[in-house]
Amino acid sequence: MMAPAPSRVVHWTRDCPTGKRGYMDKGDAKKVASAMRREGTKVRAYPCDQCSEFHVGHMPKAVRDGEVSASQFYAQKAEATAPV
Ligand SMILES: [Zn+2]
Repeated sequence: MMAPAPSRVVHWTRDCPTGKRGYMDKGDAKKVASAMRREGTKVRAYPCDQCSEFHVGHMPKAVRDGEVSASQFYAQKAEATAPV
């Protein structure tokens, strides 16, 4: 695995059923999240249950407070908004 990949390129897909941008590399997701935080946007990188990639998103209060995990929160949300 010594391919000379350009270091600035962040790979992402839209394979996720949630429609969010999925980062295949946790480090990439963290880089994106920290760049956004530097600009004042409170986001975090988190692993997704539904696509096994990483997403960058806002941190819900319930997750910040430790009431639910991010994956639990998004699972509930996905259920709540799922078409019947
Ligand atoms: Zn996902």
